[in-house]
This record gives sequence, structure tokens and C-alpha cells, in this order.
Amino acid sequence: METFRAVVLDESGASLKDLPLSTLPPGEVLVDVAYSSLNYKDGLALMGRNKVVRQYPMVPGVDLAGIVRESSDPRYEPGDRVVLTGWGVGERHWGGFAQMARVSADWLVPLPQGLDLLEAMAIGSAGLTAMLCVLALEDRGLGRDREVLVTGAAGGVGSVAVAVLSRLGYPVAAATGRPEEESFLRSLGAQTVLDRRELSAPSDKPLETERFGGAVDVVGGELLAGILRQMAYGTSVAATGLAGGRELHTTVLPFILRGVSLLGVDSVRTPLALRRRAWERLSTDLPRELLARLMQVVPLGATLTLGPAILAGRVKGRTVVDVNA
Ligand code: NDP
Repeated sequence: METFRAVVLDESGASLKDLPLSTLPPGEVLVDVAYSSLNYKDGLALMGRNKVVRQYPMVPGVDLAGIVRESSDPRYEPGDRVVLTGWGVGERHWGGFAQMARVSADWLVPLPQGLDLLEAMAIGSAGLTAMLCVLALEDRGLGRDREVLVTGAAGGVGSVAVAVLSRLGYPVAAATGRPEEESFLRSLGAQTVLDRRELSAPSDKPLETERFGGAVDVVGGELLAGILRQMAYGTSVAATGLAGGRELHTTVLPFILRGVSLLGVDSVRTPLALRRRAWERLSTDLPRELLARLMQVVPLGATLTLGPAILAGRVKGRTVVDVNA
């Protein structure tokens, strides 16, 4: 009987197990997984937080890249290289922290030309989200005359956003709570490195000096409130996350008097056409050498201990999970 190795989450926690193929959930496509990646949501799932996982047992891992072994869907054949992010994988459907996955054909994207499976997961859910933010800002008109701010810059979404925006020629200000990562952030192309506490300092003023020409925010909370006060007229903030809290205390003045737009970005349910556009842009706008600089590769078992680290903001850049190591 063929088995596969997986991280299995149940009410008592996560462990590595060898499971028979017959335990995989239904789906049209059976994938030999090569890599997954560690995302903030995986940290929440592994630590049993925010009700990310509601049914057990669950294999976490919100993304995966691999090779099709079997397919009953005409769009995919054995040997095709595919990428999957979102759609509730790792939350409601068994995910990428496993050597095998059985998934819906509708969730897959063919591996974009110019990327290999490792690079696809160095990008992963976080990188896709970063690119969706860049596209959202560009669709609204993003200028190069003022700095574009990226928060949580040393983390997954943030580091990819810094790299892509700098590569596209935008002057990037990277906000981080880890001043020791300044040289890392400058190596990705950041022009300025800011302490995030400076941006989120409490203020009585509803508006402050117009400073930023756009922003990608993964932190939310006080930091997002602080950023909104400092956005230039007619600019946008693409918001993806809540690492710093889900409450937002602001006034309407940035929106009314400065015409600032707050664009919510959710990669989980992004329609397929936009997903493909984002992956294509990632394969052209993110130089391989920058991608190599912002990733580390860990074996499958390492995910068991990385949950607390990513939730505490201690994981740098992108963490690829080699499910066969
Ligand atoms: P990471 O943990 O890799 O990065 C988050 C970064 O935020 C940290 O590295 C840290 O960076 C900063 N940070 C600021 N305040 C805190 C805090 N109180 N606790 C922890 N970190 C903090 O996560 P990701 O980049 O993968 O995800 C970032 C956010 O985006 C999460 O909230 C996640 O849920 C969300 N997300 C949303 C998606 C969507 O589709 N909407 C998809 C992917 C992620 P620094 O030290 O540099 O300040």
C-alpha cells in the first residue's frame, strides 16, 4: 500500500505521519507535491488560532507546487507542473505540508514559464498577495515621485513587495520592527528603512504631512491608522493583513480631504484570470537573484516548530518547505 508523509493537525496539535493514499480528500487532480511554503495563516493553523481550521484531521499548508500524477480533468495531464495557492487549501481541504495532494482542477494554475517549482513556492501565497497589491496600486495609478511604503517589510508579503516595487523603479520605503534587517531590506532594493513604531506613534492630528505615494500594508492596527494620516492626496493603500491587530481606529478625513483609497486584497478567492496575470508578472518582474536572497528552505518536519516564530514576526523573508526532505 502506497503511503505519503504529511503534517497532520488534530485537536491536540500537529505531528508527522505516514498516511495511505486512500485517505486523501476527493478532487480531480492528484499531485506529487515538491514544495509548499510557510505563511502567516499556517502559523495560525498550527497554533490553533483564529479558527483557521475548523475540521480535523487537517493537513495544513495554504499553497503547494508539484507535478500532476493523475487527472480526470482534461485541462491537466500527468507530468504537468502546477501551482496552487488559496481556495481554503490547508484550512478546509488538505493542503501542501504533505508529499501528495488531491485537489480540484479549478484551483490550479500551470507553473508560469520562467519559474521552477522551488521558485514558485519561494513566491507562494505571500508573494502572490504582494503582486496583487502592486497590481491594485498600479491599476489606481502609482507614481514614482514619492516613496511607496511597505510595512512588515522583513516578512513574507512585505519582502516580496519591496523586491517587486524596487525592481519596477518605484522608490521604496520599508517599515520594519527589526532594525537589524536594514541591510537585508536594502539588498532587496529599499531606498529608505523606517522603524514601524515611528509611523504608528499616537497622534491627535487626523492628518499629517503628505509623505507616501502608495502603500502595501500587512500589519493593520495602529500602523495602518498612522499610515492613512500620512498618505499623499489621491493615493492608495493596499491592505492584506492583521499581524499587528484587526481593529482600525481612524477618521474619515484621509478619505475625504485627501481622496485616499483603502484597497482590501484577498488572495484566497482571487479569480483565476487575475491570478494568472499576477503569476505572469511575478515571473517577469521579480529577478531570480532577489528571490534567492529572500528565501530559506526547510524540511517538512521543521514546520512543526515554526508556527510561534511566524506569528511573533520572527521569520525573515519567505520560508519554502521541501516536503521530501
Ligand atoms: P510574516 O509573518 O512573514 O510577516 C508579517 C510581518 O509583519 C512580520 O515579519 C513583521 O515584520 C510585521 N509585524 C508587525 N507587527 C507585528 C506583530 N505584532 N506580530 C507579528 N508581526 C508583525 O507574514 P506574511 O507576510 O505571510 O503575512 C502578513 C500578513 O498578511 C498576515 O496578517 C497574513 O494573514 C496576511 N496575508 C494576507 C493574505 C491575503 O490574501 N489577504 C495573504 C497572505 C498573507 P517587521 O518585523 O519587518 O515589521
